[in-house]
Amino acid sequence: MGEEVDVTVLAGGIGAARFLRGLLAELAERDPAARVTVIGNTADDITLFGLRVCPDLDTVMYTLGGGVHEGQGWGRAGETFAVQDELAAYGMQPQWFGLGDRDVATHIVRTQMMAAGYPLSAVTEALCTRWQPGVRLLPMTDERVETHVVVEDDEGRRAVHFQEWWIRLRAAVPARSIVPIGIEDARPAPGVLDAIASADVVLLPPSNPVVSIGTILAVPGIRDALAATPAPVVGVSPIIGGAPVRGMADACLAAIGVETSAAAVGRLYTGLLDGWLVDDADAGVALDGVVVRARPLLMRDPAATRAIAAAALDLAADIVAARG
Ligand code: GDP
Ligand code: CA
Repeated sequence: MGEEVDVTVLAGGIGAARFLRGLLAELAERDPAARVTVIGNTADDITLFGLRVCPDLDTVMYTLGGGVHEGQGWGRAGETFAVQDELAAYGMQPQWFGLGDRDVATHIVRTQMMAAGYPLSAVTEALCTRWQPGVRLLPMTDERVETHVVVEDDEGRRAVHFQEWWIRLRAAVPARSIVPIGIEDARPAPGVLDAIASADVVLLPPSNPVVSIGTILAVPGIRDALAATPAPVVGVSPIIGGAPVRGMADACLAAIGVETSAAAVGRLYTGLLDGWLVDDADAGVALDGVVVRARPLLMRDPAATRAIAAAALDLAADIVAARG
């Protein structure tokens, strides 16, 4: 452990990216020397028209790099869709995934580098040279993992890519199961286990507990590293008053038989968490062996988001102080 404080964050997409922005704003004043490592979910990744797309890594990179479409929370600001329109004119499928022209450039760079033999972690580092996100962004793994969802509707029982279930079907068709294909053979990307083991604080931002944090934890070795790290592990609930704040995390939780509540999501992380931040609406939630604290958890603006990050850091500090 060096002099600088090392903060390691497990991250999905939009929820995580917003939280990270608040965290960086808070650290800029509290501890400008602090270093943040982000371990990003890659199980949402998909190949479209031959291009490798990493939605969660890109959401974090664009958001922290100042290139994100603010209102939408993902994709590029000032985006146009000429390529997608032209593909549609050729009758190319799928059309349900938004692929903007600016965004396509990112995927071309990624695909070309991967075809030349670079692992995703090296590609991500190269993309970040442009975006300067202010964090070290690591994919959870360099191996290919893709979440598929088993659904059953008029078209029969079948497994579809997570993105098709989430975007085209809007998670409205119940998931029979959610399977991160390839996870057994995935190894943590270089630096991932060390970032957990040598961290001073580990944070789980408000991210999807099943298809974002859940898949990161399912990479062999990562859950054990989190359980073993001496650093305090503090999570922020993505569920407020029994509902996800945005997105359809409830549909994912239902698929694994877990209730949509701050308590049930906290219990999913049993043995990993030292602290759990819940919304004021969920004050009273108790978890065995975990310090639970209630705060306003709606990331409604930059100030509120920063306050949530500050509360997570405070809770981690209090846990360390209580250990004596
Ligand atoms: P995705 O990949 O874009 O779905 O993003 P994430 O994996 O980062 O997770 C999105 C999760 O963040 C959802 O379950 C939301 O309920 C949660 N979330 C989004 N906005 C907020 C917020 O303002 N406060 C809290 N507590 N959770 C939020
Ligand atoms: Ca995602």
